[in-house]
Amino acid sequence: MSFPREGDLSSSPQQQVPIFVLKEGTTESKGRQAQRNNISAAKLIAELVKSALGPRGMDKMLVSSIGDVTITNDGATILKEVDIEHPAAKMMVEVAKSVDNEVGDGTTSAVVLAGALIEKAEELISKQVHPTVIVEGYQMASEKAIEFLRDAATKLDDSAVGGKNKETLLRIAQTSMASKLVSGESADLAKIVVQAVLDVAEERIVDEREGETRQQQPQQQKKFRVDIDNTKMEKKAGGSLNDTQLIYGIVLDKEVVHGGMPKRIHGAKIALLNAPMEIEKTEMSAEIRISEPQQMQMFLEEENRMLKSMVDKVVAAGANIVLCQKGIDDIAQHYLSKAGIMAVRRIKESDMHKLAKATGARVVNNIDELTASDLGSADLAEERKVETDKWVFIEGCKNPKAVSILIRGGSQRVVDEAERSVHDAIMVVKDVLEYPYVIAGGGAPEALVAARLRDWSGSLSGRTQIAAYRFAEAIETIPITLAENAGMDPLDTQVQLRARVAESLERSGQGRAEIVKAKYGINVIEGKVADVSKQNIFEPLAVKEQVINSATEAASMILRIDDVIAASKSKSEGHAGRGGMGAGGGEMGDFGE
Ligand code: ADP
Ligand code: MG
Repeated sequence: MSFPREGDLSSSPQQQVPIFVLKEGTTESKGRQAQRNNISAAKLIAELVKSALGPRGMDKMLVSSIGDVTITNDGATILKEVDIEHPAAKMMVEVAKSVDNEVGDGTTSAVVLAGALIEKAEELISKQVHPTVIVEGYQMASEKAIEFLRDAATKLDDSAVGGKNKETLLRIAQTSMASKLVSGESADLAKIVVQAVLDVAEERIVDEREGETRQQQPQQQKKFRVDIDNTKMEKKAGGSLNDTQLIYGIVLDKEVVHGGMPKRIHGAKIALLNAPMEIEKTEMSAEIRISEPQQMQMFLEEENRMLKSMVDKVVAAGANIVLCQKGIDDIAQHYLSKAGIMAVRRIKESDMHKLAKATGARVVNNIDELTASDLGSADLAEERKVETDKWVFIEGCKNPKAVSILIRGGSQRVVDEAERSVHDAIMVVKDVLEYPYVIAGGGAPEALVAARLRDWSGSLSGRTQIAAYRFAEAIETIPITLAENAGMDPLDTQVQLRARVAESLERSGQGRAEIVKAKYGINVIEGKVADVSKQNIFEPLAVKEQVINSATEAASMILRIDDVIAASKSKSEGHAGRGGMGAGGGEMGDFGE
C-alpha cells in the first residue's frame, strides 16, 4: 500500500497515487444500487416458490449437477436444491430453512411473505421513505399481527391435546399434506402420523416460566414434549402409498447375520450390545510364534472358548435376540445360531437408542455385565423381505417410546416426497401438542390480520404508518397467491375478500377490538372466496407465528443493507468463476446436507 505525499494532492492531481484499502478484485456496490440488487434477488426467490403455494400449487422438478432428480412442493426443499449465488437470495433461503427447523411447515408461505414485504418496501423506497423507517413500521406491524393471530386462534382443550379427541390433530396433519403429492392418501397417512406422534410424546409437568415465553398460560396444564427423532422413517420404493404402515417398534435395514438362525421369534427378549462379539485385534502389531501344530490348535481353541463364553453370557441372561452395534464373529454366529438366538450386527448408534426406547432394553457396553434386567421385549421379531432387501422388524412393543413409519410408494421420487410430507405432518402435530393453539387455514387468518392491521395502522403517526399499511398488504399476498394458484383472478379476489372480511368484522360487534375468529378465506377447490372455517382446514398457530417472525426478520435485514462488499473469488476458481461456474465449488457447504 502506498500513500500520496501531503503536498501532492492539491498541486498535481495527475500524480496522485491511489490508496488501496480493499484487496484487489474486491467489488463494492453502494447505496441505491446495492439495495436494488438485493431487492431484485430476494423478489426473484419469492417468485420462484410462489406457484408452489397451497393445495393447487404446482410441484417443481429439480435436477442436480450430477443428474439427480427431485420432485417436490416443499419450499425449503426447492430452495435447498437450487444453486444460489447472490447473498441476499441466500438470506431468503435461510428463511425457509429456519422455518423448517422450528416448525416444519409454512416454508413456502414464509418466503412468499418475505418477498412481498420487500416488494412493498421497494415502492416506499422509491417514494423516498427511508429504509429504517420502513423496518420500524414493519417491526411494529409484525408484533401487532401476532397479537391479532392469537386472537383468531382457538385453544385446544386437554382431551384433544392428550389424544382422546384426535379429530383436530388428524385435521392438522391432513391440512399439512393437502398441498403435497400425497394429498390423495392424506386421510390414512394422517392417522399413522398422529398415532406415531402421540406414542412418542412425553407428558411433563408445566414449568411456569417456560409456559410464559410463548404465551401466558394457566398454571396447571398438561404439557407435551415431542422428540421427533423417536419417530424413525424408513422408505422403500415399491407397492403403493397405501401400504405405508406404522410399526410399534423399530425397523432395521439389516439382515439376520447367519442363515441357521431363526427368522421369526414371538415373545422377543432383546439384548442391546454396544460391544463386539469378536476377539479384538491388538492396537500394536504383535507377533505370535508357533513352533508346533498343537500350539496352533490351542490358540484356536482359546479363541473359540472366549467367543463361546460371550454367547453363554447372552444365553444366561435369557435373551433370544442380540442386536449388536459392533461386529459378530463367524464362530460367535455359529454358537448363537446353535442356541436358537437371532442376531443382527453393525446397527447404527442412533438406531440403538431408538431400540432402547421402543423395547425398554438398556444398551450394555460390556457383555460381562449383561443381565436379565437389561433385556427389552417385543411381541415379534422377524426378518422380512422388503422388495429385494431383507429387513428386521422388531414390532408389537408395549408402550413404545420410539416407533417407525415404513413409507412405501410407486417410485423412488414418490417415497422421497412422501417422506418429506410425512415429516412436515409429524412436525405440525408436534407443534400443536407443544403449543396447543390452532387456527383456520386457506388464507383466512392472513385476510383477517390484514384487515385489522390496516385499521390499526391509522393510529400510528408519521411515516411508520405507511409502512405498517404496506405490511398489511404484504400479508394479503398469502390468500391472493392461494387464489391465483387455484386459477382465480387476483384483483377480484382481493376486492371480494376485503369486503367479506370487513363485513364480518362489522357484524362481530361495535368494538373492533373484540376477538374475532378467522372465517373468510379461499376455497381452492371451488375457486371462490368463502367461509373456510367449516372446511376442516386447520393449522398450528405456531406455524403462522413463525412465518411472520421469520419473514419480517429477513426482510428487515435485507432492507437495512446499503453496502455490499464482496471479496474476489479465490484464485483456484479462476476468473471464469464469476459468470458461468460461479455457483459451483466454493459454496457446496450451503446445500450439501
Ligand atoms: P407451506 O410450505 O407454506 O406450508 P403449502 O404449499 O403447504 O405451503 O401451502 C400452505 C397453504 O395452503 C396454507 O396457507 C394453508 O392454509 C393452505 N391450504 C391447505 N389446505 C387447504 C385447503 N384445503 N383449502 C385452502 N387452502 C388450503
Ligand atoms: Mg405446508
